[in-house]
Amino acid sequence: MGKCIVCNKSAGPFYSLHKACLPVYQNTQQSLKTKLSSYLDSDEESSIADLKACRPSEGFSEYHFKQICIKAWQEHARHVVSQASLNVPVAKKLLNIANEFEIYKNETEPYLISRLMNFEYLQALQNDQSIEFHSNFDMTAIELNEGEYAIWQFDEIDKSEQHQYSQQKSWTLFSSLLDNLFMKSRYKPLDVKLEKSGKLLITNQALHYLLDNSVKETKFSDIHSVTPMKHGIRIQAAIRNATPDTYITGDGRFTYALLQYAQGKDSR
Ligand SMILES: [Zn+2]
Repeated sequence: MGKCIVCNKSAGPFYSLHKACLPVYQNTQQSLKTKLSSYLDSDEESSIADLKACRPSEGFSEYHFKQICIKAWQEHARHVVSQASLNVPVAKKLLNIANEFEIYKNETEPYLISRLMNFEYLQALQNDQSIEFHSNFDMTAIELNEGEYAIWQFDEIDKSEQHQYSQQKSWTLFSSLLDNLFMKSRYKPLDVKLEKSGKLLITNQALHYLLDNSVKETKFSDIHSVTPMKHGIRIQAAIRNATPDTYITGDGRFTYALLQYAQGKDSR
């Protein structure tokens, strides 16, 4: 027996929504959408509380209300990250909503949150301002060179050296399906070897990729080219026949700008 997601009363064996309750559900969707837009667009006094007030009753399924919120949130978030110009105030509001409604990365497209979080830093880089970021990287794991200091740290970064997957499209698709075991097993016959997630530290002289207890250092002076991708960057070392390294940071645009910034700090 299914309980109605609107009124929480029994709705018969095959349904979880009374026909009579459907308009309530649709109105909830619509009013949430409207309130969300006005919260994002205006400087007026509309608030998160207004969004939460769209849930019509205690009986209305909390889970389904959250799904309605996620859907509306995603629509806006996708739009904001796809724009060439950076709307930092709206990005902050979207993050605020994600925080208040406890929308986690695994409940939406994970990269939306990563990208929104980088907005203000990317804007600073674009305005030639320096960025300050406090890394909690275990610096004892890395031997820094003279004059080398940390600039940025990415957590849980996937890296691969598989050159047969050098096309951006493949990588975007593949990386967005990392959590999906079915797809993982589907890709296995294609011999994609993906290392476990590591951390990526960017200093003023190099990239350090830390995985378990090993560190791979790529000095800026050894880099031949850097290619921005949707969810990361690909780095080709200047060494002959070297396969490119692909780092899936969740935000290719920001990572690329950051690397240019860091390379500019390399004053050796
Ligand atoms: Zn009902």
